[in-house]
Amino acid sequence: MKRAVVCGAGGFIAHHLVRRLKKEGYWVRGVDIKNPEYGPTAADEFCLLDLREEQNGLKAVCVGGRPADEVYQLAADMGGMGFIHSAECEIMRNSALINIHMINSAATLGVKRFFFSSSVCIYRDMQPGEPELTEADAFPALPDNEYGWEKLYAERMALAFARRYGLVARIARFQNCYGPEGTWRGGREKAPAATCRKVAEVKNGGTIEVWGDGSAVRSYTYVDDMVDGIWRVMHSNLEGAVNIGSPEYVTVDELVETVRQISGKKFKVRHIKGPVGVLSRNFSNERIYSLGWQPRFQLWDGMARTYPWILSQVELVRKMEKLRG
Ligand code: NAD
Repeated sequence: MKRAVVCGAGGFIAHHLVRRLKKEGYWVRGVDIKNPEYGPTAADEFCLLDLREEQNGLKAVCVGGRPADEVYQLAADMGGMGFIHSAECEIMRNSALINIHMINSAATLGVKRFFFSSSVCIYRDMQPGEPELTEADAFPALPDNEYGWEKLYAERMALAFARRYGLVARIARFQNCYGPEGTWRGGREKAPAATCRKVAEVKNGGTIEVWGDGSAVRSYTYVDDMVDGIWRVMHSNLEGAVNIGSPEYVTVDELVETVRQISGKKFKVRHIKGPVGVLSRNFSNERIYSLGWQPRFQLWDGMARTYPWILSQVELVRKMEKLRG
């Protein structure tokens, strides 16, 4: 039985990834600084470790005295645009420490395959209607935020360690990912979850606030599709980074409209100033398509699964607050 270590398994994407690895017949160790928030892990073993500590990186990847067969590094000090803009120093320090220790531990202990979760935040800003950027267009580099710079450094570090130590490093650059069991409140939530929460909370006829003028273009990838992409990239022969993201690009206003229709609610939208991030996105998916990957979920289908889950969370919180008086 293959043994996998999934770092960040207390968080959103890695929690789903653990389930997939179990379905594929792996023995799985989840690692995180916190337990999963929204339900029990599917992992065989779950270790609470702060991966900013070098010793914990070594502990994480060593299973029964031997290096794990595969390490998936998804742990990060992470959040949506609000968090990325307000916590630059935390992101650059904490995520860099985690990434430094994880690739160093995996390489020096003899792990065979290492996956690193990068982001399309490593790319420069784009104008609406610009032709696709390929993975190679990451250079010359001009990420829009410090989160992107940290990811770019970690990508290069993973590749350097792979060259020196002979481990296979696989890197995916995720577009926005959404789905049930992701952060939906507290300041780290991303646009799809924040929109669902605002719509779930608003009274019929009320108003929700949306950062920016609603014209920013993004694509959103349902978590099952993202996990399938991770699986394929990890077991592929593709050297270097691979974009994973739905080719369905929408404006922020279109995202809100999708959630409005799914909810069946009537409400107004007020655009307010806020950290929107880049103007537009458009990325080539040729590399991930070459692995037979295609997104199975259109935005509507994924949101129709995500909104009810966030609505249930909002209702649960309301009930608990009522009980507390
Ligand atoms: P998440 O915040 O839900 O999960 C990250 C996990 O890392 C959290 O559970 C957190 O507790 C853990 N972590 C943070 N500091 C730690 C530490 N010191 N030691 C151990 N664990 C620690 O985020 P996610 O959305 O699941 O993202 C997973 C990965 O994918 C991240 O690397 C993120 O940067 C990347 N990514 C995500 C998206 C997205 O849209 N969700 C987009 C691009 C890239």
